[in-house]
Amino acid sequence: MLNIVLFGPPGAGKGTQSERLIEHYGLVHLSTGDIFRFHLKNETELGKLARTYMDQGHLVPDEVTIHMLKDEVTKHSNPKGFIFDGFPRTNPQAEALDELLRELNTTISVMLGLEVPEEELKTRLKNRALSSGRADDADPEIIANRINVYNRETAPVKAYYAAQDKYVAIDGIGSIDSITERLFAAIDARK
Ligand code: AMP
Repeated sequence: MLNIVLFGPPGAGKGTQSERLIEHYGLVHLSTGDIFRFHLKNETELGKLARTYMDQGHLVPDEVTIHMLKDEVTKHSNPKGFIFDGFPRTNPQAEALDELLRELNTTISVMLGLEVPEEELKTRLKNRALSSGRADDADPEIIANRINVYNRETAPVKAYYAAQDKYVAIDGIGSIDSITERLFAAIDARK
């Protein structure tokens, strides 16, 4: 299996690039943000709980997120592989993912980290707010919160994969096509 973690701060282009990767490699796309938004929209119990964190730009607690992710992974029988987008966002989530994949006799192939400077992220998120309809994109204070949470809680996950020699940095500046080409090259070099 080809299992990819697409990593990077909010606004780095994970969603956009995931679409291209799943199409090219035939992978299952698991975006925890998209799954939470689906629950929000459908007003499930999980959605009501997640909203209180998401609206503030905070992380949904690990045990809730890990449980949800496990459910999603085990829904698929015989996948070619997964692309994890927006997960893992903490070291306990990374450990839980390793354990889950071990049970399935597979592992993470590579973590691709889209690297984009903070000022550029803020500009991109402000522009995305015009079309995304996401409450957490619309307010500069919540955007700042999300970037702080990323720096504090999520950035260390990079070291977790680097220690396994699985982290590859990708320059996230340039045209969407050129970034996709960089991702393809990094994946093909690891396959
Ligand atoms: P995203 O679409 O990836 O930017 O995620 C939107 C929001 O969903 C985040 O700001 C968090 O509140 C929540 N979320 C998404 N993925 C996770 C995760 N792996 N762990 C905790 N919270 C998450």
